[in-house]
Amino acid sequence: MKVGIPRALLYYKYKHLWESFFDELEIDYIVSPATNKEIILKGINHAIDESCLSSKIYIGHVEWLLDKCDYILVPRISDYGSDGTVCTKFQAIYDILANTFRNRNINLLDYNIDSQAADFEMNAFVKMGKILGKRKSQSLYAYLVAKQVQKKAQAMELNEQEGLMNENKLKILLIAHRYNICDSYIGEPITNFLCKLGTVPIIGDIAPKKEALARSAEISETLPWAFNKELVGSIPIFKDKIDGIILMSAFPCGPDSLVNEMIIRRVKDKPILNLMIDGQEGNAGIETRLESFVDIIRFKKDDFDERN
Ligand code: SF4
Repeated sequence: MKVGIPRALLYYKYKHLWESFFDELEIDYIVSPATNKEIILKGINHAIDESCLSSKIYIGHVEWLLDKCDYILVPRISDYGSDGTVCTKFQAIYDILANTFRNRNINLLDYNIDSQAADFEMNAFVKMGKILGKRKSQSLYAYLVAKQVQKKAQAMELNEQEGLMNENKLKILLIAHRYNICDSYIGEPITNFLCKLGTVPIIGDIAPKKEALARSAEISETLPWAFNKELVGSIPIFKDKIDGIILMSAFPCGPDSLVNEMIIRRVKDKPILNLMIDGQEGNAGIETRLESFVDIIRFKKDDFDERN
């Protein structure tokens, strides 16, 4: 019995939780490789044109996993209760995949989160365990262990990022979904290039979650999407310690288009660069824009330092 895990979308948020759960239950799993051109092309070929680049990448990873495992873990998330709802892609992707690969005998492992139907995270794990032949008590124990592992991993990344704040370099806050900024094909080239320019990239998604959700109201009180609220809330948390903000989105992301426009209108005291990635244009154009942005911040900072 082997479970396939696509290295895309929520994998980056929940990898410690999912992998530890399967480790604890001694269930074999395989994670698809880092995104590459071939995976992106597979996703583009199967997706409809209007899909966002992130979901195309996800479809490419699922395609890679077909025939290599017995089940593929595909979460179907509807909402996170009072924390907010999610983009419709997270509600629809399960059915999109079941339909897209209906002739390839795809076997999806159910993982539903829908607070309105009383499907909470713990139930989702118990149900997954049942499908995989595990007793409720075994799955519950594995879930609780996995939760602890996830908490520790989150605390470690928060500490690491806190350490970066002390570096005497320009700090650029990246407001981007983790599945975009951590993706080896579309996100990592950006963080790597920012490091090459002598700046420190600060990841907005690495912020204390509860505080970020609460502080998102300082910029907007009406945002419906939990993941966007977490990102927006990271701006007031980090604002005094950073020199500029990059908004990075995957084309054509509906929630990000709206939220980024709102951030640009309401956050006035930091330089902001809005980057939309479509996976087609290569890195040269993006690097030029990053370079100019960093130059402007440096120029402003030097000018300010001279005058004070
Ligand atoms: S939030 Fe945007 S990038 Fe993420 S899945 Fe939805 S449309 Fe795609």
